[in-house]
Amino acid sequence: MQETEKLFYSDSHLKEFDAVVCSCTPDGERYRVVLDRTAFFPEGGGQYADTGYLDGIKVIDVREKENVVYHVTEGSLAEGTGVHGRINWEERFGKMQQHSGEHIVSGIVHEWFGYNNVGFHLGNDYCTLDFDGPITKEQLKEIERRANGAVFENVDIQVSYPSKAELAKLDYRSKIEIEGQVRIVMVPGYDVCACCAPHVKKTGEIGLIKLVNMMNYKGGERITMLCGYRALQDYDRKDESAKAISASLCAKEIDIAQAVEHLKGEQASLKGKLASLQQKMIGYLAQEIDISEDVVTVFDQELSGNAPRELMNKLLSRGAKICAVFAGTEAGGYRYVIGSHTEDVRLLCKKLNEAFAGRGGGKAGMVQGSLMGSEEAVKELCKTAGKEFL
Ligand SMILES: [Zn+2]
Repeated sequence: MQETEKLFYSDSHLKEFDAVVCSCTPDGERYRVVLDRTAFFPEGGGQYADTGYLDGIKVIDVREKENVVYHVTEGSLAEGTGVHGRINWEERFGKMQQHSGEHIVSGIVHEWFGYNNVGFHLGNDYCTLDFDGPITKEQLKEIERRANGAVFENVDIQVSYPSKAELAKLDYRSKIEIEGQVRIVMVPGYDVCACCAPHVKKTGEIGLIKLVNMMNYKGGERITMLCGYRALQDYDRKDESAKAISASLCAKEIDIAQAVEHLKGEQASLKGKLASLQQKMIGYLAQEIDISEDVVTVFDQELSGNAPRELMNKLLSRGAKICAVFAGTEAGGYRYVIGSHTEDVRLLCKKLNEAFAGRGGGKAGMVQGSLMGSEEAVKELCKTAGKEFL
């Protein structure tokens, strides 16, 4: 098969081109199209393949094998005919922004710490760089600052194809041993690296380089990076969040983290107050409730946590024979706790579960569970059950 002329190397900013269809082979529901020349970059060097159109037919993936570029398309094209190609430029330019940004960051990390970029992912959604050594948060800030300095300097990105002799003298980053001609991408003053992908022409095109996240990864560091439009989009989203929180808390945008901390403190102290008020309420409730019935039943939707059990214990201490506390609502169901110092409450528990689709159990002196039913019906059952076995 004739090798494909790679137009993305002669001009990384070529958006449209004309070519001739060399072959078109069905591949499942797709087609594999080979052209004499193409601006579509296949997957390589961590960068995902371009997408776009050949005439009106969608190109969903691009691969390369032995210098032949295969376009995976949704429709067929007639061999020997001319075709007009159009790559999804917005997507490609975004990837070039990330990729050129990655070279600068990797170059700086290599120069300052001697670490290698051992993993690079450049997808449509996110972009990560893996380094084989530790980096601190402060160092990350300095790396980011210098990388953006490279952008503001707006230096030309140079591509060259050095001979074996020239290459031997050149100090450059490379992930793998490359057979054949090596393509060198240089950002003067910042990085020299072997790379097969298209890059922006000047560093100014990259726009902002933002290192948004960092995590330990295989003894080194995985950095998440956003460049250009992706960084702008991220800024937009965060700006919206900050403005919404600022408005809701009536705090300056710059102070929202502090305002949230303050709010959390208030919430914790309210929780404490609520717990102590609940304790007091249980005390008052326990004094007020009539304990003359065989089974004393209490319904309360405010009781939470351990409160139902505490109330039950207080009522048993006052002399209630059997005490059943139901917390919750008729619509949402009740959580129950039933206890006695003298009787086996498991029988009552069983009856309640059977009648009200309940579940739960326990020991003779105390059972716990949940059920669904009306307050009236549950009370009625407790009353009759009490008469039955006491
Ligand atoms: Zn590269």
